[in-house]
Amino acid sequence: MSEAAELDAPADRSAVRVDFNGPYALSIGGRLIETNTTFDVFNPATNEVLARAPDGSAEHLDAAVAGAKAAFPAWSAMSWDERGALIGEYADALEAHKDDLIRLLTLEQGKPRHSMAKSEVEAAIYWVREVAKRRLPPQVVEDTDEHVVEIRHTPLGVVGAITPWNFPVLLGLWKIAPCLVTGNTMVMKPSPYTPLCTLRFGEIAQQVFPAGVLNIVSGGNELGQQLTEHPDVAKISFTGSTATGKKVMASSAGTLKRVTLELGGKDPAIVLADADWQSIVPTLFWAAFGNSGQWCIASKRIYVHRSIHADFVAAFTDYARGIRVGDGMDPDTDLGPIQNRMQYDKLRSLFADVAEQGHKVTIGGTIDESLPGNFVPVTVVDNPPDDSRIVREEPFGPIVPILAFDEIDEVVARANDTPFGLAASVWGKDREAAIAVAERIEAGTVWVNEIHIHGIDIPFGGHKQSGLGVENGAEGLAEFTNTKTYMFRK
Ligand code: NAD
Repeated sequence: MSEAAELDAPADRSAVRVDFNGPYALSIGGRLIETNTTFDVFNPATNEVLARAPDGSAEHLDAAVAGAKAAFPAWSAMSWDERGALIGEYADALEAHKDDLIRLLTLEQGKPRHSMAKSEVEAAIYWVREVAKRRLPPQVVEDTDEHVVEIRHTPLGVVGAITPWNFPVLLGLWKIAPCLVTGNTMVMKPSPYTPLCTLRFGEIAQQVFPAGVLNIVSGGNELGQQLTEHPDVAKISFTGSTATGKKVMASSAGTLKRVTLELGGKDPAIVLADADWQSIVPTLFWAAFGNSGQWCIASKRIYVHRSIHADFVAAFTDYARGIRVGDGMDPDTDLGPIQNRMQYDKLRSLFADVAEQGHKVTIGGTIDESLPGNFVPVTVVDNPPDDSRIVREEPFGPIVPILAFDEIDEVVARANDTPFGLAASVWGKDREAAIAVAERIEAGTVWVNEIHIHGIDIPFGGHKQSGLGVENGAEGLAEFTNTKTYMFRK
């Protein structure tokens, strides 16, 4: 198929068909575009080629931005209710393809189909449906005899969205729904490691939204950079590593784009001396190891009071013994593989460091490189030094250090001794004492005696080098808008 001819052709909405067995296509200006060149996407459980994704070019990205720009005037002129109704229809269309999306998510990302993949897709659809109902009503801040001052929120224009490979469905739809309901149009670039679900939910979107409202372009990292530098893009909504986030911020500066950056984390979990620690072992295990640790808000350092540390480590290790790592398509699998070879190699280096430094490992510790997929065993490191790599770095894999502490001031200082500030949790029977510790933690979210609760109305974002701005909640919606102040003389 000729790409140039495709890009020039008028959009035929009735021709848009979503076929989960068919070739993958870019969504540009309401049309599905197959490219001449593709790149391989691998199944991380086998390292076999799963599919070939369209390798979008700079011209495709330009065409996508042009499509989004052309769609913006009519889309932003619609009422919130009209846009919300279409986003609700999008949720229905996604729901109709839910099982296909869950299966594809497991195949491209690795997470277990019956648990994590299912909950990710279901949560994402729920999010779309609920965000469609949210509004940012005008706010009167002054009303005197002479005048009225009213704050309104107006859309920004074309938003560029860049997503990572750990939760491609949820994190993608977290951006699409609030971006569109506030009246913007979007160009999304998924991670080259996990483009497939995004391409499919892009195709599904073309059945619902006017042409150009949502565009998806898969390809290499350079497309991300092009998006951040593009003069017709008003904002970048980015989720990924802190290192890339800094590049995004730097290259967005040229056109003074708005940026929301959801970046890395090194979340501490602090188990106080009075905690009902036996009952929280499974909770903290899943907080650390869910999605095989490939989670920005995974508990990545567990600090346990020295009086219970040894017992906690023993019980945690016992629980870990019952966990099965395997192919996510297998219903007996608890934890899937690492999503890609780059991350697997990073983990190999970290595991080698743990061994070379002689840190005590209570379970796991050795990666069996003869396995066909990117499988890494559940690994617990018992009380390594604070300056060790496993305590300082974000592993993004199934390995966690469990550290002993003695004093509250000491553990607060150690928890805060990191450039990250994404989230944290504090566990203790004395709720007020636990909350007092939570107040001293430098992080965007702190849970007390619960963890990993998210909500449509709960803003989420990092402090320090874990990010800039928030997603979700009224604050997250507002980040997709300009604040416009009207003053009306009476
Ligand atoms: P990454 O930074 O390597 O890639 C993220 C995205 O950025 C990809 O789509 C990639 O193609 C793109 N990209 C790469 N170079 C770019 C450039 N120069 N300009 C613009 N875009 C570019 O991150 P990853 O490895 O995909 O994801 C893992 C990281 O994401 C971890 O650090 C994790 O903690 C973080 N993360 C954060 C959150 C959060 O909400 N805070 C959620 C999930 C993941």
